[in-house]
Amino acid sequence: MPDPSRLITSLIKQGDLHDDRVIAAMQRVPRHVFVPEVPLDEAYANHPIAIGYGQTISQPTVIAIMTEALRLTGHERILEIGTGSGYQAAILACLAQHVYSIEILPILGETAQARLQTLGFTNVSVRIGDGYAGWPEHAPFDRILLTAAPRALPQMLVDQLAEGAILVAPIGGPSSTQRLLRFRKSGGNLEEQDLGAVRFVPMVRDERPKQDPA
Ligand code: SAH
Repeated sequence: MPDPSRLITSLIKQGDLHDDRVIAAMQRVPRHVFVPEVPLDEAYANHPIAIGYGQTISQPTVIAIMTEALRLTGHERILEIGTGSGYQAAILACLAQHVYSIEILPILGETAQARLQTLGFTNVSVRIGDGYAGWPEHAPFDRILLTAAPRALPQMLVDQLAEGAILVAPIGGPSSTQRLLRFRKSGGNLEEQDLGAVRFVPMVRDERPKQDPA
């Protein structure tokens, strides 16, 4: 069984990982299971990995920063946009009450869901759909995490935040100008904090024609 300890030690040394609960989650989730096509040492290297269909699983540094930015205590209901491999969803599932994750590409979402089930995560729900609409049936959420970058913060997602809730997202168009932003909903306002430059795949729009209601 490969051991993420070396990766985790280096993330701590670099100052990207501090929180004991996040450290334990990164220790527990077997990253290689989420990237079955790459060699084991690649799976535990500190860089992003292609997961097919033009998508990537984020670099562990970015996973650590985003997860810590959510300030999870164990009681939260989280919405994640961009299930991808399911790795980030698994980390969140270790740290919160329930994770609702939306993926636009059916093959990725279905594979991730099967993987999470096999690993025994019972508190993650994956839905195939367009993240711009959020998941109104389960709103409001205590946390929302976007792992694909929209050009601007989608209002539908802001509307699905509970009072006091936190949303973390890479925002920006061309990948060189994206910023990782943290928003907190407070008394109807959004407080914004800039967590630095990042590079994510774009959050795409669902171009399929909508089905007419029967
Ligand atoms: N969190 C993932 C990595 C995500 S990569 C992991 O841990 O592996 C970004 C993902 O967002 C891709 O899988 C992409 O298909 C998905 N995506 C892009 N636009 C989307 C949208 N509008 N709604 C839902 N998912 C979207």
